[in-house]
Amino acid sequence: MITKKGINASPGVAIGTALVLDAEDYRIPRRTVDPGQIPAQISVLDNALETSRAEVAELRVAAARKVGDQAGDIFRFHEGLIGDRRLRESVAELITNHRNTAAYAFSQIMGQRQKEFRALNDPYLKERVRDLHDIERRVLRHILGRQREDIANLSEPVIVFAHDLTPSQAVSIDRKHVLGFAIDVGGQTSHTAILVRMMDIPSVIALNDATSDVTGGETVIVDGVHGIVVINPDEATLERYRAQQREYREFVVRLNRLRDLPSVTRDDVRIQLFANIELADEAEAALEAGAEGVGLYRTEFLFLSRTRPPSEDEQYESYRRAAESLKGKPLVIRTMDLGADKMSFSMGMQHDPNPDLGLRSLRYCLQHLDLFKTHLRAILRAGVHGDVRIMFPMITTPMELRQARATLADVMEDLDEEGISFRRDIKIGIMVETPAAAIMAASLARDVHFMSIGTNDLTEYTLAVDRGNERVAHLYAPHSPAVLRLIRSVLRGGARISLPVNICGEMAGSPVYCQLLIGLGLRHLSMTPKDIPEIKRIVRSSTIAECRAVAREALRFDSDRQVLNFLRDELRKLNDDPL
Ligand code: PEP
Ligand code: MG
Repeated sequence: MITKKGINASPGVAIGTALVLDAEDYRIPRRTVDPGQIPAQISVLDNALETSRAEVAELRVAAARKVGDQAGDIFRFHEGLIGDRRLRESVAELITNHRNTAAYAFSQIMGQRQKEFRALNDPYLKERVRDLHDIERRVLRHILGRQREDIANLSEPVIVFAHDLTPSQAVSIDRKHVLGFAIDVGGQTSHTAILVRMMDIPSVIALNDATSDVTGGETVIVDGVHGIVVINPDEATLERYRAQQREYREFVVRLNRLRDLPSVTRDDVRIQLFANIELADEAEAALEAGAEGVGLYRTEFLFLSRTRPPSEDEQYESYRRAAESLKGKPLVIRTMDLGADKMSFSMGMQHDPNPDLGLRSLRYCLQHLDLFKTHLRAILRAGVHGDVRIMFPMITTPMELRQARATLADVMEDLDEEGISFRRDIKIGIMVETPAAAIMAASLARDVHFMSIGTNDLTEYTLAVDRGNERVAHLYAPHSPAVLRLIRSVLRGGARISLPVNICGEMAGSPVYCQLLIGLGLRHLSMTPKDIPEIKRIVRSSTIAECRAVAREALRFDSDRQVLNFLRDELRKLNDDPL
């Protein structure tokens, strides 16, 4: 039995069979073959090794010609490894003695080698793990040929182990058959974490190297409440987790009873709870969870996992569907926020050397006006089907906002000229997710109808901590005094002209921050739909005076540790009251 600790990304307990997904979406199930098929598997292995070796030799010559001998050397290393007799023998031994398929046996041996390399102290050899991974992919491609199995069509329930889950994989994955996720990388507000939470599938992220501890087929437990994964649990552990699973399910049923009760504090102040969605189809589920509308529709997900950007009509259909599902309740459509870890190569996006600070989000849109205008046309047209509002992400300067607004005005003019109906009085908002925007909030506020604080990015940019990097995840703290002061600055900026201010970062759906945020002055919170019932429970158990006291006290600390400990204690006190 192996127990691994990571970050709890989506609550719940899942117990099932492990399936390892690699970066190229291969799944290599543990299969045995009939003894008669062993020679055929060995010859598949030999052919794949030989083809890969020849490919690498060609690459070596080409690289040396183009870039010089040093580049050629990298491929010499690959060539040497692929041609290594000992590698071939250990794989062949697994095939012969354990009747494994060539693919499974090869990935096993390569997994072991990568683990050995990772454990070395020599930084040069550690780096070679990436080469080993490359080699593994190359050889597997030849072994599997056309037999690649498709994660979009799983045939049985599994717990998916993956190094990472890209947004496009997540969009295409067969959700019905995934009981849980165990992922090597990521931070609390990485898009991977947001995605698994959105799918409402128990998940643990930032496990470092969990994928190399499983080969597929093992029984595993994913404890998404405490961020623990257990591989090959013994009977007593399984029993304990089965009980926890039942308890958690009962807790969810109890919480869901709050669905139709109003979100008001004990002293009758309304706190509006909205949902964050990624796809139009989620709008209905948002209402079912008790949302009063959608506070953040991340439209960029429509652009991922496609070979071409969606047409205006395709986009219009999605936005219209979301608007109609909400039956008159607000739908805040955020213009596409692509880039960084949400890349759409179909749009010719390139990885910047420093992607989070590069040509992403609104910056990308303002440099690709045709694409942006098509997007805005679709949003404006869908606007007539509901209470649709538009929100621009990643604003850093008033100039950007002006440019975005000017483009929107151009698009309106075009639609007018073409006689196409659209929402002329659309409300315009911005996300405040850079420190620059937070500091300048009072001045930005004058040009918009609402602001929404994106604490996921605001925390990353304020603390200079990559939100998706598990190695610095311990430094990522939305409750840090610096971030709290910026949130306060935005609220003050909005309050001066009575502008509505929402918050739509993950912080909004996290129980530990709920009283603090209300105490700071927030009255509109937008979150993953499944977080709504618990946040509503806290709202209904609190008074504004209590929340203000919490915020006042939290702002007195100068370290994020102190703030968090204090907030945890406060939540514990609140939780002592029965549901
Ligand atoms: C944020 O940055 O807080 C936010 C809500 O946007 P996203 O998570 O999509 O970057
Ligand atoms: Mg953001």
